[in-house]
Amino acid sequence: MDVRCPLGTEDILPEQALVWQKVERAARGVFARYGYGEIRTPIFESTRLFVRSIGETTDIVEKEMYTIGEGDDSLTLRPEATAPVVRAYLQHNLHKTKAFQKLYYIGPMFRHERPQAGRKRQFHQIGVEAIGATDPLLDAEVIHLACRFFDEIGLAGYTVRLNAIGTPESRGAYRDLIKAELSAQADALCPDCRRRLDRNVFRALDCKNRGCIAITRKLPRILDHLPQAERDHFDRVCDALRTAGTDFQEDPYLVRGFDYYTGTVFEVTHGGLGSQDALCGGGRYDNLIADLGGPSLGAVGFAMGVERILMALEATAEAAEGPGLDIYLVCLGDAARLAAFGHCTALRQAGLSADTDYEGRSLKAQMRTANKLRARHVVLLGDNELASGVLKLKNMATSEETELPDVHAVIREIRGRGGEGAGGIDLNP
Ligand code: AMP
Repeated sequence: MDVRCPLGTEDILPEQALVWQKVERAARGVFARYGYGEIRTPIFESTRLFVRSIGETTDIVEKEMYTIGEGDDSLTLRPEATAPVVRAYLQHNLHKTKAFQKLYYIGPMFRHERPQAGRKRQFHQIGVEAIGATDPLLDAEVIHLACRFFDEIGLAGYTVRLNAIGTPESRGAYRDLIKAELSAQADALCPDCRRRLDRNVFRALDCKNRGCIAITRKLPRILDHLPQAERDHFDRVCDALRTAGTDFQEDPYLVRGFDYYTGTVFEVTHGGLGSQDALCGGGRYDNLIADLGGPSLGAVGFAMGVERILMALEATAEAAEGPGLDIYLVCLGDAARLAAFGHCTALRQAGLSADTDYEGRSLKAQMRTANKLRARHVVLLGDNELASGVLKLKNMATSEETELPDVHAVIREIRGRGGEGAGGIDLNP
């Protein structure tokens, strides 16, 4: 029986787990200094909680939830943790005993997305929720806190992007305005955005399609269409961030994938991450507590993806040390050297970086070279391998071995991994 972990999930083996622990420890340390206490909620919740909070017309609720059961009994693996944290806050009457709470969580989330580098079906988030206050200084503190954490783990090269999106009421006029402008150009929008026009037009601002980006970037800024009090709130957040020494960029087209956000929204992106470049996303959600049956209380928070943090750390290390090697072919014996030479040529012609031994050195010496060159993959070629015709591709980050029939399959496999699992995060496990 050949059973592997499900698509979009991964095993974290002991050596990697040490790095995860280090990241988690750093988060717990920073959060404690800022007064946040840990909260742990179940991994599944009533489906109604997510539909109500995230919003019926969002991608997550429409197509990405792992749900079993029907109606009131329906349960969903949590796709995010803000709604569960607010549910727990209300269930345990924290609003009555100590309304202002700073909470953090660490744990797995589940979304049925199309997996790709940096996008998993089970992924892990570290997040905070500051519940019970509307002070813009708290928005700034939460953003600053995320940056402090990144600084602490030695992650450089990130960018904080900031916007304000108003409340469902205050953004009504802007919604009508962009709906009219986008409807007039509907033919040039992607099919998803054409659908979004009626259902959730703000999602068009977040579309990654180049044609849509070209159109939406000409739309007016939402900030200019918000009431003065909300613009003042935003200005105060900006002032507080400057006071804290936190760099940020205003991004007038930043929106978030959940309906519960009101006012400040932000994302932290990293250039080393490719298309899924968000490390962290968050914002203010002043209506959610009341929407879930509690009093009218403000709140602000963020969630960051642990897998992406590790990828960004890796990319930073690579940028500092050079790109490393896609594959090193270890060869033992003359016949194997000739075969390795042929494979190397094919790999390089396919655009991958490959190298092999030309000195007839021992297995150990060649492995040392592979490590020194920071090879992400190794194939061992000896008499047995030549006889069997199978190429055993070893992923140096995970030690996982994959048997492949020929060098073309090796090329496909390495390309398919798209840089994922590239070796050695310099966090000194
Ligand atoms: P969100 O809950 O969508 O605001 O996402 C917050 C952060 O979680 C993102 O910035 C990512 O770092 C991470 N994240 C979200 N979805 C995924 C996913 N499918 N796979 C890996 N990380 C994710």
